[in-house]
Amino acid sequence: MPKTLNFKQELTGAFGQPIAENPTQAMIEAAYRHHNLPWRYLSIEVAPQGLTAAVAGARAMGFAGFNCTIPHKVAVIEHLDAVGESATLMGAVNCVVRRGDQLVGENTDGKGFVQSLRKRIDPAGKRIVIFGAGGAARAISVELALAGAGELTIVNRSAERGEALASLLAGKVCGETGGRLQSRLVRWEGDYEVPPETDCVINATSIGLYPDVDARIALDIESLRAGMLAADVIPNPPRTRFIRDAQQRGCEVIDGLEMLVGQGVIGVEYWTGIKPDAEVMRAALEDVFGP
Ligand code: NDP
Repeated sequence: MPKTLNFKQELTGAFGQPIAENPTQAMIEAAYRHHNLPWRYLSIEVAPQGLTAAVAGARAMGFAGFNCTIPHKVAVIEHLDAVGESATLMGAVNCVVRRGDQLVGENTDGKGFVQSLRKRIDPAGKRIVIFGAGGAARAISVELALAGAGELTIVNRSAERGEALASLLAGKVCGETGGRLQSRLVRWEGDYEVPPETDCVINATSIGLYPDVDARIALDIESLRAGMLAADVIPNPPRTRFIRDAQQRGCEVIDGLEMLVGQGVIGVEYWTGIKPDAEVMRAALEDVFGP
């Protein structure tokens, strides 16, 4: 019997600008190889003025889906046929999925984070402090609220971004949770003291990202206690100063690589229907970032 030949690969990718430094391709293609999937994930530079044509191109070429990163997470929405619940609340899409002939927008950033958290604690009813009010904080706080978090404290430097997130949480998001969510905004001035009854502390700012690897979060380290869970969104380097300090204080920690892998796992599952091996994906990223 002659072997059946197939040179056609299923297409996925990331649209962004800049895209060259985004390591997602290494992680996702490692999963495709590991699971013997004849799939590709391409890092594609798309300028803002090219987004309409890029989405039309993805439809025409039958992409199974694609990630959207800076600057397309909001702008892509008007080109899609539908948007999932949490992405609608956040007003941002980072993962587009082809379902039948429809392109559906999802947000996997916060979902990946909540899955990591669930391996340690159930967020339901928990008191959580989040530093930052940008895209990552928005994604994480909305998913935590939908997962039943009891109290979210947003600590942010600028009033504008802080208030925008606080009003989203107190308004639409609280409505979605049946009014159970308690949320508040703290203006970040001086070293923040984490209240002793806090269950989880999350750095969702860009503090600590390479090359500013020793940057310090304005936080009273002594207020971190054993029994608290500390999480950081910074994937590079994964062992940020915050993670190191928290470990030294006896906290259990979740690093930013775990969140990055978590959202990648969900994306691959949405596109291919296969739950990929997270360890293989993490190892691919560790290779990229080096020791
Ligand atoms: P944004 O630009 O949307 O938000 C940045 C946030 O950080 C703002 O709240 C900003 O506060 C705060 N911030 C930045 N510098 C400082 C500082 N020196 N002091 C106090 N606050 C500061 O970025 P994103 O939310 O999109 O991304 C944040 C980080 O999350 C990035 O480093 C990114 O790499 C990481 N990320 C990781 C993911 C993962 O999977 N691991 C996924 C998505 C993002 P202000 O409002 O005052 O400016």
